[in-house]
Amino acid sequence: MFDLDTLVRPNIRAMKPYSSARDEFQGEAQVMLDANENSLGSAGPERFNRYPDPLQRAVKAELAQLKRVQPAQIFLGNGSDEAIDLLVRLTCVPGQDRILILPPTYGMYEVAANLNDVGIERLPLTADFHLAPETVAAVVASEAKLVFMCSPNNPTGNLLHAEAIEQILRGFRGLVVVDEAYADFAAAPSWTTRLAEFPNLVVLQTFSKAWGLAGLRLGMAFAAPEVISYLNKIKPPYNVSAATQQHALQALQDAPHFEQMRRALLEGRDWLAQQLPTLPIVETVFASDANFLLVRFRPDATVLYHYLLDQGIVVRNRTTQPGCAGTLRLTVGTPAENEQLLQALREFA
Ligand code: PMP
Repeated sequence: MFDLDTLVRPNIRAMKPYSSARDEFQGEAQVMLDANENSLGSAGPERFNRYPDPLQRAVKAELAQLKRVQPAQIFLGNGSDEAIDLLVRLTCVPGQDRILILPPTYGMYEVAANLNDVGIERLPLTADFHLAPETVAAVVASEAKLVFMCSPNNPTGNLLHAEAIEQILRGFRGLVVVDEAYADFAAAPSWTTRLAEFPNLVVLQTFSKAWGLAGLRLGMAFAAPEVISYLNKIKPPYNVSAATQQHALQALQDAPHFEQMRRALLEGRDWLAQQLPTLPIVETVFASDANFLLVRFRPDATVLYHYLLDQGIVVRNRTTQPGCAGTLRLTVGTPAENEQLLQALREFA
């Protein structure tokens, strides 16, 4: 059975969240001399002399409406990478506990585990990048404290089957993190719609992909309010800057632009997915629910990778990832960039 309080590290259970004098003061502050800021103003063109809202209330209020969740079900971080790190630290005692991952998958889960001296259990996906029934059973039986499932998966692009994820949510004793960084490009509902059913579910999303705000560093975790409270307790107090919060609020008001970019990227993906198989050097274009395509090439993929670099085109070499021999991961660009990539590949000899 899943029990959050026993899952969380004992030292964290006992911790009190960092609180500032400003959090305790309820009225309209006239004079703020509590946080050693500079009351005179800011160097540079914009005023950022005050610390940001540690709980990002305005952004969460907007997001709650958009995502149809409660603000108390939202954690915001310095990219979803921060949420990944905090989830590992929330549940895994260094030198003792472990996380579970399903390779090939996103590399930061391993980085976060290694950084925190936490073990890694690996249960590979099938050759077509899905969860075999035996793997689902092995996840359910695992003693790992949390499992990271990336869907749509990076670098493969496919969604994991909902039935497999659901079985894991019902049986696994730890936290189940469904990383939906690419959800906006997927033809499936987000797992945020199932939060009320599963107290052990954490859904990760990001402003770095379809919102086009990778430079801003803003990631989201959606979960039961109890899980979110624990994340808030252990995060650095001012983990999302005032500039990021202001900009995210503006972006959230600009839904038409988001939607227009999202559609254009989907068109670009479909165009590339049609064109690439016409090239003799292309062996397989894997189906994608993300803004990239994993492609297996007939010529040596590393040679091809360096050829593309020589043409000024940077893609991701995934040849050494488990199950990804001979592959490059191609991000969908502008129509002109997609054309340029295709032309370079056509001219490879
Ligand atoms: N999860 C996955 C699957 C990703 O591919 C990425 C970015 N490459 C992230 C999380 C991290 O996103 P962020 O920019 O929000 O830290």
